[in-house]
Amino acid sequence: MQERMRSVVRLLAWICLSLMLWTAVAESTHNHLNQAESAACSICVVAHSTAPTASCSYARPIFEAIGLLQEKAVIAKARLSVFDLGIRGPPAV
Ligand SMILES: [Zn+2]
Repeated sequence: MQERMRSVVRLLAWICLSLMLWTAVAESTHNHLNQAESAACSICVVAHSTAPTASCSYARPIFEAIGLLQEKAVIAKARLSVFDLGIRGPPAV
């Protein structure tokens, strides 16, 4: 049953892809004998219409100081000494 569904889905996918391909070919290669026919063609009307302009209004950013960074000297304290790691010193001669 699932194998049959897969083949049906695969067939539908191929049909959709071929329709898209043929539509793209037909749209890009069609032509008209005179201007009157192209005025009535929906593909040509859409192709030659003006592109919509994007209109948006956005708030302009306001740059303003909200604080002052005050640096402090940081002195890290070493917590491990060499002897804490288990390293022994050189043998005394
Ligand atoms: Zn046309």
